[in-house]
Amino acid sequence: MATDFDLVVVGAGAAGLLAAVASRRLGDRVLVVEADAVAGGSTALTDGRLWLPANHLAAKLAADSTDDADAYLEALLGPVTPESSAERRSAYTRTAGKLARWLTSSNVPLAVVRSVPDHQPDLAGGKAQGRVLATQSLDRRVLGEWAERLRSDGDGGGGLRRLLPGRRPTQTPGEALAGHLLHRATANGVEVWLDSPVVDLIAGEDGVGGVVVRREGTDTPVTASRVVLASGGFEQNQELREEYLPLPTDAEWSTSTAPNAGDLLGLAIAHGAATAGLDEAWWTPVMLADGRAWSLDEARGKPHCLIVDAAGDRFFDESLPANTAGRALYERSRGMRAVPSFLVLDNRHRQSVPLGPWPAGTTPKKALEAGEIVRAHTLNDLAQALGVDRAGLLGSVVRFNGFAGKGKDLDFSRGESAWSAASGEHAGRRNASLGKVDKQPFWAVKVYPGDSGTKGGLLIDARSRVLRADGTALPGLYACGGAAASLFKGASPGPGAALGAALVEAFLAATDRPADG
Ligand SMILES: Cc1cc2nc3c(=O)[nH]c(=O)nc-3n(C[C@H](O)[C@H](O)[C@H](O)COP(=O)(O)OP(=O)(O)OC[C@H]3O[C@@H](n4cnc5c(N)ncnc54)[C@H](O)[C@@H]3O)c2cc1C
Repeated sequence: MATDFDLVVVGAGAAGLLAAVASRRLGDRVLVVEADAVAGGSTALTDGRLWLPANHLAAKLAADSTDDADAYLEALLGPVTPESSAERRSAYTRTAGKLARWLTSSNVPLAVVRSVPDHQPDLAGGKAQGRVLATQSLDRRVLGEWAERLRSDGDGGGGLRRLLPGRRPTQTPGEALAGHLLHRATANGVEVWLDSPVVDLIAGEDGVGGVVVRREGTDTPVTASRVVLASGGFEQNQELREEYLPLPTDAEWSTSTAPNAGDLLGLAIAHGAATAGLDEAWWTPVMLADGRAWSLDEARGKPHCLIVDAAGDRFFDESLPANTAGRALYERSRGMRAVPSFLVLDNRHRQSVPLGPWPAGTTPKKALEAGEIVRAHTLNDLAQALGVDRAGLLGSVVRFNGFAGKGKDLDFSRGESAWSAASGEHAGRRNASLGKVDKQPFWAVKVYPGDSGTKGGLLIDARSRVLRADGTALPGLYACGGAAASLFKGASPGPGAALGAALVEAFLAATDRPADG
C-alpha cells in the first residue's frame, strides 16, 4: 500500500531524532511530529550522559568488552522478565559500542566522562570508568532557522530563546546531543513538524499504519509503513502517576519539564499493546525551589551533610546513586514519615557546594522567606523550624559526627563503595563523603522522592517492536526511550543509562526491517 512516509516518528527528543536520522540514512522518507513548539524534549535539559559499555572511545582508558557488560547486567538485573529479556539485554550490550561509532561517524562528537564509574562498579563486570560518554558542545548557529526551535535550559522549559550575535554554544550536553541530531535530521531531508501532537493511531492491516496529527487545529491523518513512538514517559500526568507510581507522588517532583503526559501509552494500549514496569521511574531525591524540582545528586554525596526523616533519624547512605537513593525514600516512608525528608547541612557545605538553583555561598533572601531553605544557628532551632523531632536530630548528628571524625560510617558505610567515594570530596580526607556537621549556621531543605522521568511503558522486544500481551509483535509499531518499558527494571547500571537505552532502542527500531521476520 502506498504510504505518505516510510517512517513516522512521534516525539523530537534524543530517541526520536536519532531514529529519524538513522532511518533517513537508510534512504527512508521520514517525518518527525512533535507536540511542543521546540524540539529536544526532556533530553535537552539533561547532562546528556550516555551509558554505552564497550565503546571505542574508552578503549585506551579502561579494558571493557560486551562479555563484561553482559556479566554486569546479569549481576545487576538478576532474573529475566518480559521487559528485561535475555535478548533485550544482549541487544543492548551488542549495540552500545556500535552506536557510539555510528554517532561519531555521523558527526555527533562524543567524549568519555573520565573518573565516572558504573553505579555498582564492584559487581562482576562493573567498571570504574569508561562507559559514560557525553556529547560535545554545538554552535547553535549551524542549525540556521532551527536554532530558535531547539529547547534550551534557558527556556525555562518552553519558550523560544532570542539569539544574540556571535558564537552560540549549547548550554548543556543534553542540548548539544539534541541539537546535533536535529541538525543531522533537518540537513538530510527529514521532515519535522513542531506544534503537532499525535492524537490517534491509524489501524493498519494487522497493526498500526500511521498517526493522526493535530496541526493548526486540524486532525491530519498521516500513513506510514512504520511508526516509532519516542514520545517520552508520563511524568507530567498526575492522574497516571497516581494510578501507577508509588504514593505519594507529584508531577512537581519530576525534574523533567517536557510536556510528557503519556498520551501515546493509552492509544497504543487501545491497539492491543502490552505494558510493563509502570510503577517504576528514574528515581532521584529532589528539592523544590523557584517553582520546580532540582536534583540533589551533587549536594548529598559531599561531606558536611546528612538526610533525616521526620523523627530526625538517618536511614540510608546519602551518597547512593540517584535511583537507589530515591527508592530508599519510598521504602522508608512505608513505616515512618519520610516524605518529605530533610537534607541538613552545615555552613561549610553551603559555602562550597551548589544547592538547587543556588551557587555555593549564595542563598537568596526570597528563598529563605519562601521556606525553600531553612537556616538556624542551632540544631535545636533547625529541628523546630522543620518540625523534626529535636532529640532525634541531635542524636543523629552527634552519632554522624562521631563517624565523620573516624572516617567510618558504621550505620550505612557511606563513602566506602567506589561510587560513593567518587561522589565525595577527596582533598586530604580519610573518607571522601564524610565530614562533621558542626559549623553554624545550619541549613536544611525538604527532600522528595522525585524522578527524571517514568520508567515503565510499552513492552518491546530486542528489535524495539511493540508487543502484544501474547508476546507477538504488533505490526508497524515500535517504541523507544521513555515511551518503552525499561530493560533495567528497578535498577540503573550507570549515569546515562536512560539516554543510552533511549538511543540504543531508537537505533534498533530505525534499522529494523519488517522483512527480517
Ligand atoms: C533534568 C534531567 C536530567 C537528566 N539527566 C540524564 C542523564 O544525564 N543521562 C540519562 O541517561 N538520562 C537523563 N535524564 C533522563 C533522560 O532525559 C530521558 O530518559 C531521555 O531524555 C528520554 O528521551 P526520549 O527521547 O525518550 O524522551 P524526551 O526527550 O522527553 O522526548 C519526548 C518528546 O515527545 C514529545 N511528545 C510527547 N507526547 C507527544 C505527542 N502526543 N505527540 C507528539 N510528540 C509528543 C515531547 O514533547 C518530547 O519532545 C534526565 C532527565 C532530566 C529531566
